[in-house]
Amino acid sequence: MDDKIELFAEITKDIENCTKCSLYKTRTKPVPGEGSMNADIMFVGEGPGKNEDRTGKPFVGAAGKFLDELLRDAGLKRSDIFIGNVVKCRPPNNRTPLLKESEACKPYLYAQIAIIQPKIICTLGNTPLNTLISPTLTIGKVHGKVFERDGFTFIPLYHPAAALYHNALKETLKEDFKKVKAFLDKINL
Ligand code: URA
Ligand code: SF4
Repeated sequence: MDDKIELFAEITKDIENCTKCSLYKTRTKPVPGEGSMNADIMFVGEGPGKNEDRTGKPFVGAAGKFLDELLRDAGLKRSDIFIGNVVKCRPPNNRTPLLKESEACKPYLYAQIAIIQPKIICTLGNTPLNTLISPTLTIGKVHGKVFERDGFTFIPLYHPAAALYHNALKETLKEDFKKVKAFLDKINL
């Protein structure tokens, strides 16, 4: 366990010193991600927004509040999970990260996955779906489905922010979160 904390701290330090893509120039604080080193589920978002950039913490704005509600509704605790992002530095005006930025940042995410060894990785929205599962899939077609990649189990979900713009997606997300919890309970039997 202590080994995991040390390894994770090394990655965090590398992120803090990182200049591998131009996003470092405009960030306030990088957002390495946070949560349990023994998390069963890892959630992966797109990248920090305004509040995350200011605080250095993932999902602390409006989307984060809804994420908390989704977790609570599904019977998941923050201590069961880890929350990270594809890019660790905020893209200007919250634009979608460029492919070269996601590619530059991806090794940090893979290193975090390798340390935490989550049983399920839930991607949130199209960016992590395209980065981690397949560049040609779209979330509307594959949300809630199970994919195996490189020895890990992935379940793509809509991004919680999408439901703040499209109210109908709230129910879809709630149902998918419950599916994820049921899948985890089956693994843990
Ligand atoms: N949206 C994301 O994709 N990630 C965050 O950390 C916050 C909002
Ligand atoms: Fe480095 Fe990632 Fe930040 Fe780009 S987004 S500077 S690759 S930590």
